[in-house]
Amino acid sequence: MTAIPQERRLVTAVPGPKSLELQARRTATVAGGVGSTMPVFAARAGGGVLEDVDGNRFIDFGSGIAVTTVGASAEAVVRRATAQLADFTHTCFMITPYEGYVAVCEQLAELTPGDHAKKSALFNSGAEAVENAVKIARSYTKRQAVVVFDHGYHGRTNLTMALTAKNMPYKNGFGPFAPEIYRVPVAYGYRWPTGPENCGPEASAQAIDQISKQIGAENVAAIIIEPVLGEGGFIEPAKGFLPALAKFAKDNGIVFVADEIQSGFCRTGQWFACEDEGIVPDLITTAKGIAGGLPLAAVTGRAEIMDAAHSGGLGGTYGGNPVACAAALGSIETMRELDLPAKARRIEEIMKARLATLREKYDVVGDVRGRGAMIAIELVKDRESKEPAAEATAALAKACQQAGLLVLTCGTYGNVLRFLPPLVIGEDLLNEGLDIIEQAFAGL
Ligand SMILES: *Cc1c(COP(=O)(O)O)cnc(C)c1O
Repeated sequence: MTAIPQERRLVTAVPGPKSLELQARRTATVAGGVGSTMPVFAARAGGGVLEDVDGNRFIDFGSGIAVTTVGASAEAVVRRATAQLADFTHTCFMITPYEGYVAVCEQLAELTPGDHAKKSALFNSGAEAVENAVKIARSYTKRQAVVVFDHGYHGRTNLTMALTAKNMPYKNGFGPFAPEIYRVPVAYGYRWPTGPENCGPEASAQAIDQISKQIGAENVAAIIIEPVLGEGGFIEPAKGFLPALAKFAKDNGIVFVADEIQSGFCRTGQWFACEDEGIVPDLITTAKGIAGGLPLAAVTGRAEIMDAAHSGGLGGTYGGNPVACAAALGSIETMRELDLPAKARRIEEIMKARLATLREKYDVVGDVRGRGAMIAIELVKDRESKEPAAEATAALAKACQQAGLLVLTCGTYGNVLRFLPPLVIGEDLLNEGLDIIEQAFAGL
């Protein structure tokens, strides 16, 4: 398996002297707008462990934001990408095509929900995939409006900033934003005024009413939603919400786009999160977990929609780079061989049981939610008001990091601790990570 020992080890202060030295070089030369969660510099990573330049080993509950699902140095990814590097690094698929690109599209057709004829186009980043889904939907429907949701996140390019809900840090000062984007409510059960049991039907009715009355269904090209919202706080739309919107889209000739860039590729315990309620999206955007850490993204969907754009209308110099495609084939091979959807469900079982105990013990734990290996704790000042506890969240994340556990935060209110371990993490490491989280709460 991986060369890096699967154990936590702290041998210096965090950050250690070598990381501090690199930090000084970084401050002098890297733009301030690029942030980092951890104060340490990486040396190598694999399985469930990340080692820094000072030799400290962290348990990884971040996976580079849900990317290294198969680990950061998975054997099949390294083997296939290395072989491809030696053959050729780039020809540009738009000039001289190659098999790897086609093979990835075949895998996407097989793995994504629905048994209709499907086609794909490959890109470099999640944001680029979402932008292209919008281009394709507009081209197919000959309509312009795009519907997105409260707490949604779709990227940092100009169009995807407009699709993203949260101002700081993603949008502030970066406007003007693209027109014809409309935001409607999402079924956020924990914060729904009349309670989680009413949330699905009420939120979908509100969203559909706003679309119908404020935009006009006949003007809408696409509805874009994350089946489990990522950056917005690991919000699982309350049951019934996604099916109601998918049906509304179908009845009105609107392209229903599932943005599975974070939730896809085994992360939530199925190949794709929208399978949970039997949703078959017209288009699905993927990236992050697809290629074991190499930059690759895709739009996959109904052949007649995907073929709507004219030849030459989609593409890009690097889109579907051959090394990234080889890595994706290695990543998918690993997911199949190790049955990683099942591993994600097992991780959920272990994490949810232990986090439920935390919820009983500490009032600051407002909600524990998520699916598979996409699990979160929402922190509140008190359970009655549900006032977000952003400072406590930041303090907990820092305490975990200092103790050798890499965790991330998210949420519109900055009050969600999120856990995205690689699906290949060992159960001993997973439990040790949870021990550290418990200790961090005890020390709050
Ligand atoms: C990360 C993310 C994106 C953007 O992907 P990039 O590769 O960072 O451009 C889009 N949508 C969702 C749901 C994401 O989680």
